[in-house]
Amino acid sequence: MEATDCVYKNSSAPIEVRIKDLLSRMTLREKIGQMTQIERTVATPSALGDFAIGSVLNAGGSAPFRGALSSDWADMIDRFQSWAIQSRLGIPIIYGSDAVHGNNNVYGATIFPHNVGLGATRDADLVRRIGTVTALEVRASGIHYAFAPCVAVSRDPRWGRCYESYSEDTEVVRKMTCLVEGLQGKPPTGYPKGYPFVAGRNNVIACAKHFVGDGGTDKGLNEGNTIASYDELERIHMAPYLDCIAQGVSTVMASYSSWNGRPLHADHFLLTQILKNKLGFKGFVISDWQGLDRLSRPRGSNYRLCISAAVNAGIDMVMVPLRYEQFIKDLLFLVESGEIPMTRIDDAVERILRVKFVSGVFEHPFSDRSLLDVVGCKIHRDLAREAVRKSLVLLKNGKDPTKPFLPLDMKAKKILVAGSHADDLGYQCGGWTISWDGMTGRITIGTTILDAIKEAVGDQTEVIYEQNPSAATLNDQDISFAIVAIGESPYAEFTGDDSKLVIPFNGNDIVKAVAGKMPTLVILVSGRPLILEPTVMENAEALIAAWLPGSEGSGITDVIFGDYDFTGRLPITWFRTVEQLPVHAENNLQESLFPFGFGLSYDKEKSPQ
Ligand code: BGC
Repeated sequence: MEATDCVYKNSSAPIEVRIKDLLSRMTLREKIGQMTQIERTVATPSALGDFAIGSVLNAGGSAPFRGALSSDWADMIDRFQSWAIQSRLGIPIIYGSDAVHGNNNVYGATIFPHNVGLGATRDADLVRRIGTVTALEVRASGIHYAFAPCVAVSRDPRWGRCYESYSEDTEVVRKMTCLVEGLQGKPPTGYPKGYPFVAGRNNVIACAKHFVGDGGTDKGLNEGNTIASYDELERIHMAPYLDCIAQGVSTVMASYSSWNGRPLHADHFLLTQILKNKLGFKGFVISDWQGLDRLSRPRGSNYRLCISAAVNAGIDMVMVPLRYEQFIKDLLFLVESGEIPMTRIDDAVERILRVKFVSGVFEHPFSDRSLLDVVGCKIHRDLAREAVRKSLVLLKNGKDPTKPFLPLDMKAKKILVAGSHADDLGYQCGGWTISWDGMTGRITIGTTILDAIKEAVGDQTEVIYEQNPSAATLNDQDISFAIVAIGESPYAEFTGDDSKLVIPFNGNDIVKAVAGKMPTLVILVSGRPLILEPTVMENAEALIAAWLPGSEGSGITDVIFGDYDFTGRLPITWFRTVEQLPVHAENNLQESLFPFGFGLSYDKEKSPQ
């Protein structure tokens, strides 16, 4: 029979019928190929054609794709796709990427605030619109699959992924899960619960991650252990997954972390009994990067044991097995020797094919170049700017609160801009931007805080910019006020775990030096609350938590010069000392510096007393 006669190629046949038909034609080796996701640097014609690999991904934009444009990405992915569809059954790949705050690996894409800032907005509609725009920019680069949203409920800012979490509060995270609807589109009324949904060619496959309890680990350790009763796990950390599933999320990623000592990647109870059976999730469960290899120490030892534990527990697609040819060989052996039942393999592949059919990749395997024009366009940047201004949390306004310092006077003759974070786009964007753990400097197109200030005040104001102001500048009597931006340098995952949480570089010293000489607004650019020393708290006239705002610094000037009011509220309790941690709204026995939900406004009625 000609391939075109096959039922699975017929787009008007029901999806479950197409799945059955295709599955019945596949060899065990092809099924295992579909369960394998490889890194783009090993994606060759033979891997994609002979092994029928199911998916390819990239981690950040490693060379030569660091700083590459959307069209370069689309060329590469289309090339991979042409190899995949030449495989025996012509099953297309889905290409995945960590588009976690916009299509952040691509040069020139719109970079939105990281999730912690979006949590501060409490604005679900905004987050939904960000999802829609992100999907468009992702699709423009030929990518089908975004590893977002991260729905971790982060209970401890020592965790290096705190900024990937919308909030310490389950209800806030639940509200923000509507990113799924933005990315995938909205399922019609009556859509079967738990069934994956992707509306069309302008949408992407989403991934709720990391299932489950990633934000609750002891001492905030990345890949650590979450100690909790089942009821707590369900109430605090699992609830957002119910919302994602209700919206038709197509995939769920397992967490590197453990629950009461048991690694999630090998947890049959949580992955199969709860997620798939009880919650009715019909999409596929993907492992995290080398998640199977990490089940043993040293990594990758006792590999067959790790594979059978994870696949039998319910992992359907394996992200980057350390050596994928070995993985395929071992999984073949385990199935042939009966350690992994064939029914488990068929279930995994059915789930993967379901997502592929739902996403339309069989009908439209290649990128849509007509979308390239929208990447980083003005409408998208305006949305990011709106997100930035809504994410800012005003922590202090005036040493004497009856004499507010903000909004700043746009007509001042001379102002000083200082600090490590005033003119650094890489710092503003944080981790997961252009590279895996972020970079410094002009890493993409965007507006720094300094650029935005210059644009806002125009020619009438002289803007002096010195990262570390000289004595002469500090003593310049003509300067009306200073804006000092300090904060963290980019990090991702374990590189961001930090038990001290002090403001890095010489942030405190600069505030002390500048604020001792002139009225000063301090803008803190960070992925989490940091220790606010008395030098900052007392000397600054005003203090703003700007989180990791992304590419549009103008969102900050929109608010500090008074065109808009502050509406952001703390998504996470601001601790006083690290000894207090973990401190959050539910266990806030000791006094925090600022409680969860705190945030001042110009409008007195909206400010807390
Ligand atoms: C992270 C995931 C990410 C994956 C792919 C892992 O290290 O934990 O969040 O999606 O890498 O880059």
